[in-house]
Amino acid sequence: MNEKPAKPLPSAYGLTLDDWIEWALAHDQTKFRAKQIVEWLYIKRVASFDEMTNLSQPLRELLKAEFVISRLPVVRTTGSQDTTQKFLFRLHDGRLVETVKIPANVHFDGGQSDRVTLCVSSQVGCAYACQFCASGLAGFTRNLEAGEIVGQVIGAEIASGDAVRNIVFMGMGEPLANLTQLTKALEILNAHWGLNIGARQMTVSTSGLAPQIEKLALIPMQIRLAISLHGATDEVRDQIMPVNKKYPIKRLFEALEVWRHNKKQKVTFEYILIEGVNDGLDQAGVLAKRARTMNAKVNLIPYNTVEGLDWSRPDEERQEAFLSVLKSAGVTCTLRREKGHDIDAACGQLRLQEETAEGIIASVAE
Ligand code: SAH
Repeated sequence: MNEKPAKPLPSAYGLTLDDWIEWALAHDQTKFRAKQIVEWLYIKRVASFDEMTNLSQPLRELLKAEFVISRLPVVRTTGSQDTTQKFLFRLHDGRLVETVKIPANVHFDGGQSDRVTLCVSSQVGCAYACQFCASGLAGFTRNLEAGEIVGQVIGAEIASGDAVRNIVFMGMGEPLANLTQLTKALEILNAHWGLNIGARQMTVSTSGLAPQIEKLALIPMQIRLAISLHGATDEVRDQIMPVNKKYPIKRLFEALEVWRHNKKQKVTFEYILIEGVNDGLDQAGVLAKRARTMNAKVNLIPYNTVEGLDWSRPDEERQEAFLSVLKSAGVTCTLRREKGHDIDAACGQLRLQEETAEGIIASVAE
């Protein structure tokens, strides 16, 4: 009989300072040791516990027996240093996740920024089956652990040599369906002892899980919220995002009111333009109204073709016409005009290709 493989050790990147303090006290260590550990992990960025030279040998052995410093290995990189770069990381169970690095001179919403933005994944696969999205094609596999979310940021910094100063949770998965691990990861990314990334520089994007938006609104961090809207009426949104049946626009907007009340900040609506599906100027009109009531910004994103899905993007004239309806209604709105349709293919595609090649998806389907 085959023995079950031993459960892998948890990632050291998944613990907050409080978790480390609790761990230290439970192992007859002082609080100060916990501070030293996080300093080695995040400030000095060591790759092994053996390099933590101001800790005793027995303590290092104890750490080695309980945790790994898991720098996620890169399986594949596409793009180059000065363009959008995609990293495919392998997790401890062989699963793959994508992380996209957007260079300093291009901002994800079409504006300019002097800071590198990283688009991170929150789950392997996704259960929400949005009709435009590659990640949903193979269904949901599992939640990422906080250490795997933080690990993507550290992994991308090591692989690219650039510091990440902005993070968007717009990679694979639905971050709000993984709220516990997401919240922990946000804390580690934001903390002074951690990656020290400003809360305002982190955007969580959701397909619209209303109750979880209300929960996220309670965390004491000024993170930003983006909503994948993609349809201005229930009729149109229902065709694109099955989640709209569960939380229709009215319910979603109630949650956004809670967010606005607690956070006192604007939300962003993402709106992919899909030819003949949601690019009608009537939709633009309703979208403009909704954005104005919420005082929301709108990011228009021309649809990226996904293999296996037959939608396409409207021509530029149509995109500009949609944009001008919003602009003339006084809505703050950007239209992503960048090229790179090929390299910057939609999230989830790299993983699909690679996992299909490795037969992982096939074996899950059995
Ligand atoms: N589940 C979360 C995060 C993943 S999708 C959410 O729904 O917000 C995040 C964003 O990726 C989408 O809103 C969209 O802006 C972008 N995206 C995904 N697939 C795309 C495609 N085929 N073309 C263009 N943008 C896409």
